[in-house]
Amino acid sequence: MKLSIEATRMTRIKPSASIAAKALANELVAAGHDIVDFTAGEPDFDTPEHISAAAYEAAKRGETRYTPTSGTVALRDAIRAKFARDNGLNYDRNQILVANGAKQVIYSALTATVEEGDEVIVPAPYWVSYPDIVLLNGGAPVIVTCSQEAGFKLTPEALEGAITAKTKWLILNSPSNPTGAVYSREELIGLGEVLKRHSHVWIMTDDIYEHLIYDGLEYVTLAAAVPQLYDRTLTINGVSKAYAMTGWRIGYAGGPRPLIAAMDKLMSQSTGGAGSVSQAAAREALEGPQDFVESSRQAFEGRRDLIVKLLNSINGTRCLTPNGAFYVYPECGAFMGKSTPHGKRIETDKDLQLYLLEAVKVAVLDGGAYGLSPHLRLSFATSSQRIEEGCRRIAVALEALR
Ligand code: PMP
Ligand code: GLU
Repeated sequence: MKLSIEATRMTRIKPSASIAAKALANELVAAGHDIVDFTAGEPDFDTPEHISAAAYEAAKRGETRYTPTSGTVALRDAIRAKFARDNGLNYDRNQILVANGAKQVIYSALTATVEEGDEVIVPAPYWVSYPDIVLLNGGAPVIVTCSQEAGFKLTPEALEGAITAKTKWLILNSPSNPTGAVYSREELIGLGEVLKRHSHVWIMTDDIYEHLIYDGLEYVTLAAAVPQLYDRTLTINGVSKAYAMTGWRIGYAGGPRPLIAAMDKLMSQSTGGAGSVSQAAAREALEGPQDFVESSRQAFEGRRDLIVKLLNSINGTRCLTPNGAFYVYPECGAFMGKSTPHGKRIETDKDLQLYLLEAVKVAVLDGGAYGLSPHLRLSFATSSQRIEEGCRRIAVALEALR
């Protein structure tokens, strides 16, 4: 007799570590604890006023009904213009799909395409949801470790070594969550050379952090750097991070028509499409004034400099300077095997995460959740004051380890 209400396939996955850690931090704050929260993978700014106003205006105009599953014509056209303007990518309207966040784009793409046993190459460190969505769909994530020495980036050699006859997808994420690593045009061309030789491999590029890029680097997406791959690349993006719109739940993608059609079919039997007023807001985000994108980017770059400096001033932590996104991924191997003032041994980065929360009320994520240990992940989408206070507490806690 079956005892669990959950389907067997659900036992292959776990809850999103980032969402769980954020929920715990919120609970502790609600219970009155002074938590410094470095878990949140979302901008701490409000959505710009003109974007919220566009949603309100749309509601008043009566845009409160179902939209086409793949998104309103107006939003899909705004997305086409965005891809052409920012990325030099041209898509027809029927090559564009809107969904409830980039997360649902990824979910729909994998669910619509992965067969039992198909392999999906996921470079590690990876965003927590990629391997689990593959597993839920009966696929096999093939984790390729990208070391700190290699800047946490996939090399052409490692990619070549991971491809088999069963490879269905490669998932690329630049700038990366959790490392902030950014692939240059030359690096993409290098990976492209390998991918051109393996015509059965599809590529999903998660460009959600496109606009959060520092040090004057150029942003390039794979389908633009290697046009020969356009016909098997799904280019994913969204408004969550660039426009502080995580709660509006709008992500989108451009890709080959048969793939977009399959995702559209799946969504017609699941969500029925994204919210109408959120789509109006996303259209305004893409077509309206863009000054918020640059001002928030500058704010994040300043916070990045601060957090990297403070973490590297702690004896034993080693933190690379991320070129994009709003995460740092410091290495913390020096603390493994040490004991807390209460005599508890720190064996893993998970132990270190729990110790920081208990001892000094600093909430972070463990590298284990992202596929490369021993590391911690800290989001610097919080104020400079909280970054200073949090790093001060982390230093106190780490210096107390023996
Ligand atoms: N990809 C990456 C790498 C992310 O960090 C996130 C953030 N949650 C997403 C996709 C999903 O973003 P959203 O669903 O809010 O568009
Ligand atoms: N992507 C964000 C993060 O990594 C939001 C949480 C999630 O969707 O997992 O923290």
